[in-house]
Amino acid sequence: VTFNEHAGEIGRTDAAYETLRARILHHEIRPGEHVKIDQVARDLHISQTPVREALVRLEADGLLAKERFRGYTATPLLSHEGFAQLFSFRRLLEPWSAETAAQKNSADLHVLSREMEDVERHVRLSDAAAPDRLYGLLAEHDVRFHALVAEMSGNRHAIESYDAMHCHMHLYRLYLSARAVVSAEGEAELASFDRHYTTQRASTETVQEHRAIADAILSGQPQEAGDYMRWHLDRSEQRALLELAIVAESQGEPTHG
Ligand SMILES: [Zn+2]
Repeated sequence: VTFNEHAGEIGRTDAAYETLRARILHHEIRPGEHVKIDQVARDLHISQTPVREALVRLEADGLLAKERFRGYTATPLLSHEGFAQLFSFRRLLEPWSAETAAQKNSADLHVLSREMEDVERHVRLSDAAAPDRLYGLLAEHDVRFHALVAEMSGNRHAIESYDAMHCHMHLYRLYLSARAVVSAEGEAELASFDRHYTTQRASTETVQEHRAIADAILSGQPQEAGDYMRWHLDRSEQRALLELAIVAESQGEPTHG
């Protein structure tokens, strides 16, 4: 295998991974649906090897599950309990990361500072008529922000644990599911819909919460950095629970439990 052939193979795996990931997130592949290797390979006009590799990565992300004799199926959205567990663990890990980051004079301080300035400009200039685009931008910022705080703690295990949770992918998938329900059924039909909730408002709140954390880290105040992170995770969980209630309602499920 020459370098170029190898690079081509990696490119095809990446392309298959990105395509399938998007299809699962946007419910073009529904929870429980069977994903067949030969069919994906035919669809994308590639061989089965890169498809197999992409499926292994999607399994590691928690988007696919491999069952004996059945092959790969798309996993369901995280349950109420699944999100509760995710946020409990984040509350254990991330306030500590923020506290520790504030105690260090990390070389990444200017990266954090620039990240906040960029996202604040984007939210200011964003078009309220294109909420999904704004959410996409914000989701990418959120990954960078939390990963950066973990990294600034200087603890390799904090970074690995944060990455392994794939929390933003679960949150992004939840957001898209809730948006799909709202556009299909209409806000007025949904008992659980908070009329004050908009993508624009959720984005503004998120960025303000991140700003408070960032300022505490930048000015070297560990206690405040930890407290603001805890507060931000509580608020994020509340926003996620609202979206989960919208999805659960559309499926005729109880919103508590
Ligand atoms: Zn955040």
